[in-house]
Amino acid sequence: MAQLPSRELDTPTFRLAMSQFDEAASLMALDPDLRERLKFPQRSLAVSVPVRMDDGHVEVFTGYRVQHDSSRGPSKGGIRFHPDVNLGEVAALAMWMTWKCALADLPYGGAKGGVAVAPKRLSRGELQRLTRRYAAEIFPLIGPDKDVPAPDVGTDAQVMAWIMDTYSQQVGFSVPGVVTGKPLSIGGSLGREEATGRGVVYVTLEALRHLNLDIRNTTVAIQGFGNVGSHTARIMHECGARIVAVSDVNGGIYNPKGIDIPTLLAGYKDAGRSLAAMNLGEALSNDELLQLDCTVLIPAALSEQITERNATRLKCRILSEGANGPTTLEADRIIQDMGIFVIPDILANSGGVIVSYFEWVQDAQRFFWKASDIQNRLRDLMTSAFARTMEFAALKRTSMRMAALMSGIDKVAQAHSHRGLYP
Ligand code: GLU
Repeated sequence: MAQLPSRELDTPTFRLAMSQFDEAASLMALDPDLRERLKFPQRSLAVSVPVRMDDGHVEVFTGYRVQHDSSRGPSKGGIRFHPDVNLGEVAALAMWMTWKCALADLPYGGAKGGVAVAPKRLSRGELQRLTRRYAAEIFPLIGPDKDVPAPDVGTDAQVMAWIMDTYSQQVGFSVPGVVTGKPLSIGGSLGREEATGRGVVYVTLEALRHLNLDIRNTTVAIQGFGNVGSHTARIMHECGARIVAVSDVNGGIYNPKGIDIPTLLAGYKDAGRSLAAMNLGEALSNDELLQLDCTVLIPAALSEQITERNATRLKCRILSEGANGPTTLEADRIIQDMGIFVIPDILANSGGVIVSYFEWVQDAQRFFWKASDIQNRLRDLMTSAFARTMEFAALKRTSMRMAALMSGIDKVAQAHSHRGLYP
């Protein structure tokens, strides 16, 4: 393992991203100078975010914005509000954004941001003050032509609206293109909220087709019932698949006959966001969910869920990675040997950033598209990225993960080679 430029980068998630990159770079014999450069972020900012809490005292949170690479365009990536956020995790997620955007052929580099905070413990006022102060602290880095944040774990359209407003107040006019994943009223795009889930479904359908599996005989288990998991469940159900298990942070439910997803979605909020309270299946733990016998397993929560500890017990045919970095390096080798068909994260969950790109283009043109335009273009980009990755994997006799990484890295390498080294 190379010398890390900062001890703070030394986290499991960053090591995972860096090891994946190292393996891909070796396989493609990437130019050693460029390899050194791409291992670490181009620019990282750590900020203190003081917030006046409702009881009058001031609490100081730590936030980050990391830009991994901007050779292909403005850097792009979400903002995560979660207690475990740290520099290493944000840097890893920023690196994955670089490869993800390049793989989908979007004119973007990769970035990520985050604040170490439990957003559900804050009142709406506290959340707004935290968001605005964080946005003010990272203000020098962001902008529609520089770096464009979006929602991620723990953030949503409202948080994006506050960032857009804070930025716009500073420059003196409305700048919708500074963030994506905004509400429609201020330049958001139709279909953005469901985009990651819809994209997961599109590539999963491609994988089923490739393996000659019928959607009507397909059983699906989904870990995570947030923005990615819930939309994936809904759309997969609409396509005719049987969703046999879903889970959230508190655990999950299992119903071999298929969970009634529309009823679950309609009542989940009112049931206090408790899956078990809905009585639509028997209780099961997150770990049990991963080990279910099913056609498709979709981890759609946090990173490092499938590890060497549980990988041998997976019983799915297809692993479709809705989350970023759900599979550790050791687990990856194991499931490869087991013959599980893996749709790697940077391909499977790229629907979110693809529709973010559509939103940014619409904002720039002040011209907005129909929902059907968004869906058709999303399906187009995702199915062709899937086909390219399959072809590349066959050509190089490598895994889908390595093929996806290598094609992303190759596009970034081409941009660097054409631009040359400054000064
Ligand atoms: N947070 C999402 C991701 O991890 C979306 C990023 C974006 O739209 O910029 O891909």
